[in-house]
Order: sequence, then structure tokens, then C-alpha cells
Amino acid sequence: MSDLSSRTAAPLTSVCVYCGSSNAADPAYMEAAYQIGADFAKAGLKLVYGGGGVGLMGAAARGAHEAGGKVLGIIPDFLRGREQPFDDVETVIVTSMHERKMMMFERSDAFVVLPGGIGTLEEIIELLSWRRLDLHRKPIVFHSPGGFWEPLFALLQHTIDRGLTPPALADAWRSVEDAAEITPTLLAWEDESVQTDVSEAVRLLT
Ligand code: AMP
Repeated sequence: MSDLSSRTAAPLTSVCVYCGSSNAADPAYMEAAYQIGADFAKAGLKLVYGGGGVGLMGAAARGAHEAGGKVLGIIPDFLRGREQPFDDVETVIVTSMHERKMMMFERSDAFVVLPGGIGTLEEIIELLSWRRLDLHRKPIVFHSPGGFWEPLFALLQHTIDRGLTPPALADAWRSVEDAAEITPTLLAWEDESVQTDVSEAVRLLT
């Protein structure tokens, strides 16, 4: 097995966004998602996302696309009706949720987590569990407006306090309240980021 944590100075080029698909989200979360997408475009970062046109995911993709950025959506065939992909952004149609998540992982150098529901939780917990197994060391930044993600952090800390999760896992992510801090936090992470041998990680995961 190759060393999954060999250091390189590879710059970030693509960032995956995990976020809610509900149109009932707080309009402030929607505006922040749009702004984050636009900030990625201005920084030359490609936005990789779940491929839908609805909720925060649609807002982030619109923000990136309308600011002239690159966008890659990845959506399972069976969700096309429900999540309504855009016609004018690059979209890959896959066959399953597992394939979607694996492609989002492979195609991204870092991850941003916006407010979301059960689907977002599923995605971020899986990503953290892969980090806990040393399958990747990609940067993870949460947007936590008004402390949105504090209950999750408290639960993760609870598992650390009980000796069930290694304390070092808490180094895997940063959290910011202000959406404008997302892109600078990612870019500042660049220098210390550790490139993952993704092909080896994918071989072990599939
Ligand atoms: P939610 O946070 O529930 O609105 O879901 C956010 C996104 O995660 C939606 O696009 C869902 O289709 C997606 N999602 C939910 N569960 C999974 C899963 N198991 N694998 C991949 N994507 C998922």
C-alpha cells in the first residue's frame, strides 16, 4: 500500500460542497451559499456538488456559474426529477448514491459543509470516518452561521471524551460563522495540506 499522507505542495483546484437540498432553508443560508459559490469562482476554484438545482446546493452552483466559475454536478439518475439539475452546468449522471459520493470525493481537493439535513450529515460523517481511517487528509471547512453545526461538534467531542474517537480527529476540520471566511480559510490551509493518494483510497473503499 502506498503512503496516503506523503506531503506535497499541490494547490487546491476543486472544492466539494455538501449542503441541504431543501428550498425551505433560511433565506440567509441561501444567500450565503450563493456568495460562497461566487467566491470560489473568483478564486479560480471549481465547485463540485450534488448536481441539483434546488435548495442551498442550487444556490451555491448558481453563484459559481453566474460569476463565471467552473461547476461540476454529480447526480444519480433517480434524483433528476426531485433535485432538478441545471441545463447549463457540467453534470455527470451516475447510477447510485454511492457512486455519487465516491466521484465527489475523487474530484475534489477539499470540502465545504453548509447547513443541511440528513443527507448532508450522512455525507460529512462518511468523510470524517474516512479521515479517521487515514484514507485522506483533505481540508474540511464548515459554514456554521449562528452556530448551526455546534450540536454536531458537541456530539463528536462527546465521542472523543469517551475514548471512542481519537482526539486528533478534531484537527480534521475548521468552522467559520462568516461565509466570507470560507474561501480564505481554504486557501490558507493550502500550504499545510497533505495530498491524498486518492486512487489508493478509492481502491480500499470500493
Ligand atoms: P439534505 O441535507 O437531506 O437536503 O441532502 C443533501 C444532499 O445529500 C441531497 O442532494 C441528497 O440527495 C444527498 N444525499 C442524501 N443521502 C445521500 C447518500 N447516502 N449519498 C449521497 N448523497 C446523499
